[in-house]
Amino acid sequence: MNRAEVATLLGAASAVDPKVPHPDPDVLTMWVGILDDVPADVAGAAVRAHYRHNDETVMPADIVEYWRTIRRDAAEREHNAQLRARAIERPPNLRAIRDGIARVAAALAITRGVDPEYAEAEVEARRAYLAVACTWCKARPGSPCTGPGGKPLTKQPAHDARLADALASTR
Ligand SMILES: [Zn+2]
Repeated sequence: MNRAEVATLLGAASAVDPKVPHPDPDVLTMWVGILDDVPADVAGAAVRAHYRHNDETVMPADIVEYWRTIRRDAAEREHNAQLRARAIERPPNLRAIRDGIARVAAALAITRGVDPEYAEAEVEARRAYLAVACTWCKARPGSPCTGPGGKPLTKQPAHDARLADALASTR
C-alpha cells in the first residue's frame, strides 16, 4: 500500500472506529512502512474482517496477519491441487486398485464420475475383477456377473467371491 491508499483506509476505518489514528504524515509513514507489501484490497478486506469481530482499534499487525493467512491458505490450496494432479498422473498402483475394488464392492457408496481421483481406480478395479472368472455365477473372464435368469447385477458390480478373487490377485 502507498500513502494515499493507507490514508483512504484509515479514513474508511474511522467511520466505524473513532479511535483510528488520523492520517497525519507520521502515522502514514509508519503504516506504509509496515504495510508496503500488502495490497490495498487485501488491507480493506482485513479491516472489514477485523471490525466484524472486534471492537478494538485495528492495528497494522492485524492487517499483516490477515495478509499472511490469505497467502498461506492460497499456498495450501495450490499445494493440494498439485498433489491431486500428481495422483491423477501417476499410473495406478496396486493399492489404488485394491482401494478401487473395495470401493466398487461397496456398491451403495459409488458415486460414479463424481470424484476424478477414484474414477480411474474404479476403471482399474473393473479391469481387475473382469480378469478373473466368477466362482459364484460362473461368469468367464471378461464377462460380467449375472444374477438369476442371466440378468446383470444391479446392487453390486460383481459377486463378492469375484471381487475377493480380484483383490487377492492384485496383492
Ligand atoms: Zn458372479
